[in-house]
Amino acid sequence: MRAVEYHGKKTMKVRERPRPLVTDPTDVILKVTITCICGSDLHMYVGFMPGMKNGDVCGHEFMGVVESVGPEVQNLKPGDRVVTAFDIACNQCRPCHRQEFSCCDTTNPSKEQELLYGDRLAGFFGYSHLTGGWEGGQAEFVRVPFADMNCLKVPEELDDEHAIFLSDILPTAWHANELGQVGEGDNVAIWGAGPVGLFAAHCALIRGAARVVLIDSVQYRLDFAKKKLHAVATINRKNKNVYKELRSIFPEGPDVAIEAVGFHYVESLVHKLETTLNLETDTAEILNELIYSVRKAGRIGIVGVYAGYANHFNVGAMMEKGLTIAAGQTPVQKYWPTLLPLVQSGRIDSTLPITHVLPLSEAPRAYRIFNDKEDGCVKVLLKPQM
Ligand code: NAD
Ligand code: ZN
Repeated sequence: MRAVEYHGKKTMKVRERPRPLVTDPTDVILKVTITCICGSDLHMYVGFMPGMKNGDVCGHEFMGVVESVGPEVQNLKPGDRVVTAFDIACNQCRPCHRQEFSCCDTTNPSKEQELLYGDRLAGFFGYSHLTGGWEGGQAEFVRVPFADMNCLKVPEELDDEHAIFLSDILPTAWHANELGQVGEGDNVAIWGAGPVGLFAAHCALIRGAARVVLIDSVQYRLDFAKKKLHAVATINRKNKNVYKELRSIFPEGPDVAIEAVGFHYVESLVHKLETTLNLETDTAEILNELIYSVRKAGRIGIVGVYAGYANHFNVGAMMEKGLTIAAGQTPVQKYWPTLLPLVQSGRIDSTLPITHVLPLSEAPRAYRIFNDKEDGCVKVLLKPQM
């Protein structure tokens, strides 16, 4: 089969490799119909993700048709159309019983992550050996362990393109709103107008937010957001002081600030990262802007990925202003019962961020345009059968 492999910084290759097989009784093998590239994949693409090995298969956002099932799979059979969760949950450990699926104790054997964080999170598909070394779904076929738990059957009337984002970015946008406790009448500012920020804005409006402002430095993404979601206001941080702009819109500051950007490493630290795992970002610039801008006693939800330390984090402002800050990788499976009906009824416009649909063979170009913000790219779908 063909799969998208990582071969070093900004080097993605579509290669032939053996098809995955059922190796555990709870596995299914999926024939992938759609897979996507996520902002999280870009951390890896630009060489900032430790624990990547040449030849690793990428991709944690995918869906497909069940090809074969292990003997202990209860709810799935060949031919079922399913979307998967990027976080691999066993549904048997204490975190899973608390619905903290992205914190599953079972699915990530990486000792390195424990050294870095004091704990291991769940395994994630296609996202380095730090998160378990699982083969990803940017491929013609993929193995999904604990399949009953990690696959959602897609109702017949919902086509693939309306279902695919239930694998990650839609639940993640919802999670950002849960972390920031966004509710009726709230004023919300969101950093990052990528696919996650865009969906987070949409979800905030659905949850009754009064006003939503999106912040980015890429004008076409802000224009795209305005075109798709008329109710949002935008700030281009390239030519505006974000704090001052926000305070002119919300004199007290927004009630909620959402971080949908993630970390930026200093290039010179990358070598150090690979050897010591002492991950350090250059500054906490973005986080400090959220802390500074949000109102007193406000809430902050962080879903942008930070894989280590951030220098000069303004803990004083956070403490003195009495902020509630919450963060996390999304427990995708927890939100399926809430989000699937909203997608089915059309209240959530689940195809919102799609700008490109390309064959899997064009993955290297897809990574490039998504990373370099070319060709008006917001979100790319890759189709192995196209
Ligand atoms: P993306 O890279 O397409 O979008 C990020 C956007 O942030 C870009 O448009 C970029 O121009 C903008 N940006 C950069 N610096 C900025 C700044 N200082 N202020 C405001 N905007 C800035 O990625 P995405 O797919 O939308 O994902 C966003 C983040 O969410 C990534 O860090 C990704 O790893 C993370 N993520 C987290 C989870 C989770 O479970 N927590 C799941 C999916 C994605
Ligand atoms: Zn993702």
